[in-house]
Amino acid sequence: MNDLPAYAVARIERGADCWRWTGPRNHFGYGQAMKSGKTQMAHRYVFESVVGPIPDGMDLDHLCHNADAACIGGATCPHRLCVNPSHLEPVTHRENMRRSRNVGKAWLGKRRKSPIVAGIEARYRSSLADVLRSMHASGMKQTDICAALGVSRRAAGNWMREAGITCHYGRKPRHPRTLTHLMSQEKAA
Ligand SMILES: [Zn+2]
Ligand SMILES: [Zn+2]
Repeated sequence: MNDLPAYAVARIERGADCWRWTGPRNHFGYGQAMKSGKTQMAHRYVFESVVGPIPDGMDLDHLCHNADAACIGGATCPHRLCVNPSHLEPVTHRENMRRSRNVGKAWLGKRRKSPIVAGIEARYRSSLADVLRSMHASGMKQTDICAALGVSRRAAGNWMREAGITCHYGRKPRHPRTLTHLMSQEKAA
């Protein structure tokens, strides 16, 4: 193991168990570090500084989160700020999603996950429920959320209901034709 760079030491609160990142955090509640002028997830940055490179395309799974059955996850999950390298394990995205308690539970349970949902989860490296919760928590209206995700208002509304999120509709969509088109595509999928 290598020593932590001073930049990281100054931004970590080392507890007995988790090491809490005190620097900036992103939309999804993960710490953000600056490395050579670029932002990077803090837990990935610390892991790579101390342990070594993360294999290409691999996620870092937070083992402390997995072990805490009471944690509901999402942007307020305290484990997302943990950068303790011994709590992090490089896993494939698929494995990371498999381990996640929230990964479209309702959606997975009943039927195969739609490629649209799988695409969103891959894009945000997070479960759909987490993505929706984070966006909602940041004050986005349903209209903003369906625009950001590129899905119909009905799909976004259904997902949010399943994820237990109550949300205002927001303004009317600017491109109803595009959304209707997406909706019909979705029905066909
Ligand atoms: Zn931890
Ligand atoms: Zn957690």
